[in-house]
Amino acid sequence: MLTVFGSVAIDTIRTPSRVIKNALGGAATYAAVSSSFFQKPGLIAVVGQDFPKKYQNMLGRFVNTKGVVHANGQTFRYDGSYDQTLSSRKTNKTELNVLKDFKPIVPEEYRRSEFVYLANNDPAQNTKIIKEFDRVRFSMCDTIDFWISTKRNDVIKMMGVVDSVVINDEEARLLTKTHNLIKAAKRIMGWGTKFVIIKKGEHGSLLFYDDMVFPSPAFSLENIVDPTGAGDSFAGGMIGYLASKNSTKISSIREATTYGNVMGSFAVERYGIDGLVRLNRSRIQDRFRRYKKMMHF
Ligand code: AMP
Repeated sequence: MLTVFGSVAIDTIRTPSRVIKNALGGAATYAAVSSSFFQKPGLIAVVGQDFPKKYQNMLGRFVNTKGVVHANGQTFRYDGSYDQTLSSRKTNKTELNVLKDFKPIVPEEYRRSEFVYLANNDPAQNTKIIKEFDRVRFSMCDTIDFWISTKRNDVIKMMGVVDSVVINDEEARLLTKTHNLIKAAKRIMGWGTKFVIIKKGEHGSLLFYDDMVFPSPAFSLENIVDPTGAGDSFAGGMIGYLASKNSTKISSIREATTYGNVMGSFAVERYGIDGLVRLNRSRIQDRFRRYKKMMHF
């Protein structure tokens, strides 16, 4: 069984071609929907009274929403802008709202989850909640510049209680205060996690473990419209694949990173969550086959 915990948001995304307001977003949303194509996850999150019914229904199509709490107040809101290259993003506003004082509870039926993904969220909440699962075999977490700047020590602590950390290159550099990604990954492993996956946007990912590195390229795409959620879709694809295989073998973890790249590529082709919600398993397998062919030499 798989559980995803993290932010569910209402996003404003500004790209050079389009501004999208009040879109369904959030790290856990992208990760949970992405993972659902491999195994239906249980979602733990909090939303406010303003959270539209149509978004609730959409989540319900993909995930178990028993762990989604409706609190008094406004839903977490995020506002970000991309530059012309679509590879650099600036955060304009982060409004925590109901996320701020959220005391997450793991529903009874989620407690036996063997795979747990702590999506981008308050790191102290993440560290606390992982202890509430009885038989975790593989846990993974992510973070973002906001938490690194406001709660760095909690981020480091969180990275010591999970099996793997997935993080993008800019955030890895910011967090470890080093430019070299190999040094950055080693520093993160020094905090207690066994695997570090550094996402490099259009350049794919690097998986580090022991003294090994496994690079995998991104699926090459000509038309990218909105990179929001690519990292979360990557992580969701990765852990969803592992949960569906019920495996934590290194060969599965390596393969899971390639599924991560495939799922990230779908997310960036359309605005917001649109790239994911129209997907099906056969389109994923088809792209996976093309990805394999692309990498073969
Ligand atoms: P990504 O593009 O994969 O980094 O993820 C973007 C998503 O993360 C957006 O949909 C946001 O709602 C969400 N997000 C942005 N900032 C935060 C934050 N500080 N904590 C939790 N989630 C966030």
